[in-house]
Amino acid sequence: MFKCHHCGHAAHTRSSRDMSNKTVERYYQCQNINCSATFGTKESWDKDFITPDRKNFAEPHPEDSDQLGILYD
Ligand SMILES: [Zn+2]
Repeated sequence: MFKCHHCGHAAHTRSSRDMSNKTVERYYQCQNINCSATFGTKESWDKDFITPDRKNFAEPHPEDSDQLGILYD
């Protein structure tokens, strides 16, 4: 949720689109009927606080993992 920079009222997202996997563009409309401003924002990835451990990353089990034992018996 973003506030209208003209009147300070809450604005709602009208639409959004991914510009990249780190940036989203959003179009807002002010909910104050006396203002009704529309504006756009760009929301960007900033920083990671916790990242997945890629060295010890556990791959998801393959769906047919139960059948691997049969192949090697
Ligand atoms: Zn407004």
